[in-house]
Amino acid sequence: MSKPNESSVKSLNHEHEHEHDHKHDHQHEATHVHNQPGAGHADDHAGHNHSALGGHVHATGTKLKWAFLATFFILAVEVVGGSLANSLALLSDAGHVLTDVAALGLAWFAAVQAQKSPTLDKTFGYHRTGILAALANSLTLIIIAFVILYEAFHRFQNPQPVESTIMYLSAGVGVIVNLAIAFGFRGGEDNLNVRSALLHVLGDAAASAGVIIGAIIMQFTHWYVIDPIISVLIALMIAWNAWKIVKETLHILMEGAPDNFEYDRLLAFVRTLPGAQDIHDLHVWSVTPERVALSCHLIVDPEGSLERSTEIIKQFKQYILKEFGISHSTIELEIDQCGCPGLLCPETLWESGKGAH
Ligand SMILES: [Zn+2]
Ligand SMILES: [Zn+2]
Ligand SMILES: [Zn+2]
Ligand SMILES: [Zn+2]
Ligand SMILES: [Zn+2]
Ligand SMILES: [Zn+2]
Repeated sequence: MSKPNESSVKSLNHEHEHEHDHKHDHQHEATHVHNQPGAGHADDHAGHNHSALGGHVHATGTKLKWAFLATFFILAVEVVGGSLANSLALLSDAGHVLTDVAALGLAWFAAVQAQKSPTLDKTFGYHRTGILAALANSLTLIIIAFVILYEAFHRFQNPQPVESTIMYLSAGVGVIVNLAIAFGFRGGEDNLNVRSALLHVLGDAAASAGVIIGAIIMQFTHWYVIDPIISVLIALMIAWNAWKIVKETLHILMEGAPDNFEYDRLLAFVRTLPGAQDIHDLHVWSVTPERVALSCHLIVDPEGSLERSTEIIKQFKQYILKEFGISHSTIELEIDQCGCPGLLCPETLWESGKGAH
């Protein structure tokens, strides 16, 4: 591709900044503090698609940093404590905390990547690096879960004594620090993101509390099989959360449409617009969960004016932004069918020799 001159590139960038300057009405500081992939937050308020992937572009607050440092502290305590206590349960809990540290690190990484401008070489920018990192991260977590299950299998056959005191002291740090993080969320429960992050942190505190209870029981009974039982439960929790991320990232990489998109509603709306008749050759995909794009052909009344068509496109774009959070669309106007009446373009259209479509 030949390179346009500097000034035209700059003016293109400038236009885009204005086009995509969507207003945020939610509080970023409070909203994205503990932006865990596993938290499963999924709201579809106007103009935004948050999903289980999290990683909002603006998640760069100081609270994110503090949550990261606090979670990293739990990780260090539980790894050292788990090794000293010879407790697989505590090391498994550390494995889960590692997933949280990775999630918070990813949120930060995605925020940094999002600041890179698109280039002529990568016109969508670098947003997908966050998706690839999330996929690699969750596949790693599934491997971690299998390693824990494998170790637990050995311990079931040959239960090993554990140092209960070190176990519940280390897990106690996990409970206290997680409750402190939860305390930082107080007052924001009306917000769905804050509520799901809060639930996740309380779930983490409960997992650590489970380790403490197990340690106390083992101290009195010496039933050391409890240690691998707790490990298996934590491994299943890690694998389940990781699997949800794998599914979501694969859906995005397959150019899947977001869950909240409803074609029937879009078509019904188009038919209420005077002068608009039908849409076809529809594509809806997510660059990331919050950057959804759409392209389609729109059939308009042949008698209509250019002003009317421009107004139809404007209302169409407003509607898909408000209803589905789609902030980037390319709409081709037609006055009669281009020869592909189908809603989706058939596979043959991609074949060479059939003309550009
Ligand atoms: Zn644009
Ligand atoms: Zn967690
Ligand atoms: Zn664009
Ligand atoms: Zn067409
Ligand atoms: Zn066509
Ligand atoms: Zn197509």
